[in-house]
Amino acid sequence: MTTKKSPQTSLIHSDYTPPAGFGAFPPAIHHASTVLFPNVAALRSGDWKDKSAYTYGLHGTPTTFTLEARLAEIEGGSDCLLAPSGLAAIAMVDFALLKTGDDILLPDNIYNPNRVLGNWLQDTMGITARYYDPLIGAGIAQLIRPNTRLIWAEAPGSVSMEVPDLPAICAAAKDKGVVVALDNTWSAGIALRAFDLGVDIVVQALTKYQSGGADVLMGAVITQDKSLHDRLALSHMRLGYGVGADDAYLVMRGLPTLKLRFDAHDAGARKVAAWLKARPEITKVLHPAFEDCPGHDTWKRDFTGAGGLFSVLFDARYSEEQTDRFVDALKLFKIGFSWGGPNSLCVPYRIQAMRRGWPDAGILVRFNIGLEDPDDLIADIEAALALLQS
Ligand SMILES: *Cc1c(COP(=O)(O)O)cnc(C)c1O
Repeated sequence: MTTKKSPQTSLIHSDYTPPAGFGAFPPAIHHASTVLFPNVAALRSGDWKDKSAYTYGLHGTPTTFTLEARLAEIEGGSDCLLAPSGLAAIAMVDFALLKTGDDILLPDNIYNPNRVLGNWLQDTMGITARYYDPLIGAGIAQLIRPNTRLIWAEAPGSVSMEVPDLPAICAAAKDKGVVVALDNTWSAGIALRAFDLGVDIVVQALTKYQSGGADVLMGAVITQDKSLHDRLALSHMRLGYGVGADDAYLVMRGLPTLKLRFDAHDAGARKVAAWLKARPEITKVLHPAFEDCPGHDTWKRDFTGAGGLFSVLFDARYSEEQTDRFVDALKLFKIGFSWGGPNSLCVPYRIQAMRRGWPDAGILVRFNIGLEDPDDLIADIEAALALLQS
């Protein structure tokens, strides 16, 4: 980027150059498994790692390389690798950096499939996976062992919403030569400059805000450090990760509106959360912009915004049966996983079973605020809450 532009302008004016003689804003969609070489010498000298050339569809096309470059630019990184899902992006990191005998640290509030993967590495691969209090901050130094190779972080944890002190965790990790990988999906790369805080690897579930349509599954792994990128690229190649050209285009199509949508999710979520905060049925609003949320001060220091995702705790006098009835009664909020699309969603979690030493009583319910009018969402919640009294 030659001149500095605001994030919103950069999302629209990217470095993409259309093919000669065909001026148009959208990048082309290139489908290919076979990529043709002009002669045998070119075939023999072809290097799959070289992104200025093409060797095979699985290793990248102009479409996927364009999306990778755009995502790296948004996140403030230099390189990006695409994966067929957010979870596949997480696995790419584990398989790139870990071998038998190694140790990893994961926050106790990590995205649950990442925990399932960590436990599987422990049970079958001779790797130890240990869990830390997401609010541990600099205290993580005491947990790092000589064989610790990777520390996962998530900011905030996408169910219980604690915001970790990333600069403190990263400084302790750097001190001992341990890589920090951050699942930065909640902020979409828009509201947190992860590399500036010392993070080494950023994972994004593009399935969420980047695609924005609840119609694509994709993930990305973004780095600033070339040698880390090279290790990840080997993992990407060995695992045979590819993404479809049409899916890559769908994600690209979402990027110019990424910040506008993110800001609209943010505004809607804060309005709904503030309304819930005043309700007697709710004891805590676990939204990083609210004081109830553990790590709220860290969020204020490190983030420039919030997404559409937050949780609330219902008063302990309500049974699970009652809060299930509340969720079932919602009409605009649909019941289902994921987030970042136009539709609002609601999921109750059995958080006490998911987390060791969870301090609070009461049922945790997670809301994903979509792009509907927040006043309509509030009316929907108000009508469903009325059922709790009956
Ligand atoms: C959704 C999600 C993922 C995984 O993305 P998929 O594309 O669904 O595999 C990873 N991390 C977080 C925080 C997520 O919300």
